[in-house]
Amino acid sequence: MNRISCDVIKDVLPLYYDNVCSEATRAIVDEHIAECEACRDLLQKMSIDIALPTEGVEQYKREGMELQQIAKRWNRSKLIAFAKGLIIATSICGILILGYVGLFKWNFISAPTDVFEITDVSQRKDGNIYFQAAQTDGYDLNRVKYTLTDDGNFYMTPLRPVVKSKHQQKLGIFLIGNYNFDVKQQSASRNKEIQAIYWGTPEDRILIWEKGMQLPPASEEVEAEYNN
Ligand SMILES: [Zn+2]
Repeated sequence: MNRISCDVIKDVLPLYYDNVCSEATRAIVDEHIAECEACRDLLQKMSIDIALPTEGVEQYKREGMELQQIAKRWNRSKLIAFAKGLIIATSICGILILGYVGLFKWNFISAPTDVFEITDVSQRKDGNIYFQAAQTDGYDLNRVKYTLTDDGNFYMTPLRPVVKSKHQQKLGIFLIGNYNFDVKQQSASRNKEIQAIYWGTPEDRILIWEKGMQLPPASEEVEAEYNN
């Protein structure tokens, strides 16, 4: 044991630490702590505690955790905001694409029959119905849909999108096509006997041919076109 008890040193240690003790006290403490590990530890602990008081450490830890939580929350809300943004952006893109396709590309509006001319309706030697379809309003025709209804009416429906485009050639009339309609084959492939062929829709139609109708014979040119 040391000459001076640890209790005494413990009492003066704060003074020693704050450097407000007498030289004599300082010398005694120095001498004591040189040999007493317990008091040396106490002094060391004192300096740590003063540098970072226990309460303060706890508080910093708490605040640190709060900050972490705030950061986590913020990161999460940032992620949610990003996800929302992504969904909104994707939706807008989707709507724009749908809108574009819907307005410009989706051919679902049937063009009125009064802008079409069906000409050269005739019957070829093999029995096929021949005709030409042309349109006169200067717009593009994007699609012709074929529908065979239950009553055996075959509709060739010209379709356009909502926003129609001008025909590139800017001709007053442009030929959609020459049709060489094989009634027997079409009936067989659709498992129903075709009774009539119309251009248009059930509400707005041009009759091209119906069963029993006598058509003029096709011209030599037409026969030659399909017989090579
Ligand atoms: Zn001691």
